[in-house]
Amino acid sequence: MSRPAKISYLRILRRGLARRCPQCGVGRIFGRWMHVRDRCEHCGLVFEPLEGNSWWFMYYTTGLLTGLFIIAMLLIRPTNMLLGRIVVFVAAIVAIVLTLPIRKGLGLAIDYLSELKSGHRDDIRPQ
Ligand SMILES: [Zn+2]
Repeated sequence: MSRPAKISYLRILRRGLARRCPQCGVGRIFGRWMHVRDRCEHCGLVFEPLEGNSWWFMYYTTGLLTGLFIIAMLLIRPTNMLLGRIVVFVAAIVAIVLTLPIRKGLGLAIDYLSELKSGHRDDIRPQ
């Protein structure tokens, strides 16, 4: 097996954040909102050969965001409690739900880096 071409890890992570294929940077990861395509439309990379490879990242980042909101609720004492709760609820929805595709793309890029380092997959050819 030939060694894969050198590619910056930061570039791979940026591709994931942009919801693009971590291998080629051209194909889109998602077909619809949070629906991960089976493979890249450009280079053919299988995004999730084992379903759930990036779940750990989703759990940790959701837990981190939730923890930040809990800390903020403990430190910030609004004068109007109802308004404060509404603001926290809306901010939590925006931070947790609307960032799902971005976090999923980053999780898939991290999984790709892991697969790249392990060298166990033949279809990984960084471009
Ligand atoms: Zn691709």
